[in-house]
Amino acid sequence: MRSLTRTILTHRGVACRTALHQGGPVPDQTTSVMWFRRDLRTADNPALLAALADGPTLPLFVLDPALWGPAGPSRRSYLVDSLRSLGRDVPVSVVRGDPAQQVLRAAQEVGATRVHVAADYGPYGARRDAAVEEALRDTGIELVRTGSPYAVAPDRVTNGSGASYKVFTPFSRAWAEHGWRGPADPLPTDARWRHLKETVDLPDVALPEGLELPDAGEAAAHRAWEAFLDKVVDYDGARDLPGVEGTSRMSHHLKYGEIHPRTLLADLAGRGGKGATTYRQEIAWREFYADVLFQRPDSAREYLRREYAAMTYDEPGADFEAWCEGRTGFPVVDAGMRQLRATGWMHNRLRMITASFLVKDLHVEWQHGARHFLHWLVDGDLASNNHGWQWTAGSGTDASPFFRVFNPTSQGRKFDPDAAYVRTWVPELVDVEDPHDPSPEARRRVGYPEPLVDHAAERLEALDRYQAIKK
Ligand SMILES: Cc1cc2nc3c(=O)[nH]c(=O)nc-3n(C[C@H](O)[C@H](O)[C@H](O)COP(=O)(O)OP(=O)(O)OC[C@H]3O[C@@H](n4cnc5c(N)ncnc54)[C@H](O)[C@@H]3O)c2cc1C
Repeated sequence: MRSLTRTILTHRGVACRTALHQGGPVPDQTTSVMWFRRDLRTADNPALLAALADGPTLPLFVLDPALWGPAGPSRRSYLVDSLRSLGRDVPVSVVRGDPAQQVLRAAQEVGATRVHVAADYGPYGARRDAAVEEALRDTGIELVRTGSPYAVAPDRVTNGSGASYKVFTPFSRAWAEHGWRGPADPLPTDARWRHLKETVDLPDVALPEGLELPDAGEAAAHRAWEAFLDKVVDYDGARDLPGVEGTSRMSHHLKYGEIHPRTLLADLAGRGGKGATTYRQEIAWREFYADVLFQRPDSAREYLRREYAAMTYDEPGADFEAWCEGRTGFPVVDAGMRQLRATGWMHNRLRMITASFLVKDLHVEWQHGARHFLHWLVDGDLASNNHGWQWTAGSGTDASPFFRVFNPTSQGRKFDPDAAYVRTWVPELVDVEDPHDPSPEARRRVGYPEPLVDHAAERLEALDRYQAIKK
């Protein structure tokens, strides 16, 4: 057997000596596969530890056309960067194709008896894993699920009668009472790796002009988190102000599992204050939406409150295009939509304002907007995105009833009081007197469009359409 060794410096600075084995299995040990998906990290990774506990491990990633195809440039490019980063710590073998065939082929090539994963609770992921499990079982190989991308896996938080929660506040209370494990151990220092003979190169993804993405990878995730911890105390006050760097920007790191929410929660434990408490609540939103989607997989595309499907909506046309491109003539809406295209991220307040505008001012169904978001967002996540949309559209879990219609101008004034955010993303308004509501003359002068619609009139129109389904 040929054996190569190298030293891996993990993100926390722990040096671990690893051996890369080529050839047959190590005697008296079981070879296993660690199939990475949304868990592109070495720290706090129970599935990876379970694989290494079996013996020599093949770290595997499958480029799945069913996921790669619909992903937009942001997620494709970020995934590749994240895999490159993981590959510097762990010798990941990358293959392309249907996971049911590729995982089986890989497991057979290295003589594995177990394939380890973190459980996937999304509609596609759960179906895919069931198909992989069946293909493996036919040849006597076991699929072992350890952990998930959540502190508390979906379906675990239930009420006294064992039912899942449909409303956030009682869910978050029960979620906190349920509690979660502490972070998993570091990787063993004697980890031994296997790799495949034939792999594919990671594709180079060209980004559209003007789009710049954040740094990917486990080390970047920990850097961002540690920087945020220094200002978590201010989070409660700053998180709603898009002109201030007041949020953690952890969503893309969480999406790809470059850091686990358990790690964040452990670092927050013992920190009192409203900032840390509110941050825990935001993590709970992520877990709540994953649970809701698990209970109602159809709600990825269909209305959670089915009566909303009967509402009259308009077909997406030129107005929808203007919304996508940040040309609605409503400065704060355009700022959000342009931030999305330039950075692959949009501030949460803006996600709500722009989503409300599409559904309640332009009367376009939420699914069109959700698809556009998923195309551009680097953190694009089916559960958080589509339920964020349904929440805003009024058809979702709770809280934002349809008749509460955001006024984009007053939202802008309230949450971007000095117009710093609008001036950044709609630079033609930088010197305009009232950037949240420029005069017709000022708009003409700087070449900024007139408002696409009369908000007051469209609000009434939205309420009429809502009354029609309430009857
Ligand atoms: C219409 C709409 C679409 C959205 N689409 C997505 C999406 O595709 N992916 C995504 O991760 N989030 C989505 N969100 C939630 C939220 O906007 C982002 O998680 C947040 O803006 C990410 O920035 P941050 O990491 O700086 O957030 P922080 O304010 O620092 O929050 C910390 C973490 O808590 C979680 N979180 C915060 N708010 C929410 C929320 N409302 N719902 C679920 N989780 C939350 C995220 O994991 C986030 O990283 C959406 C919200 C709306 C209203």
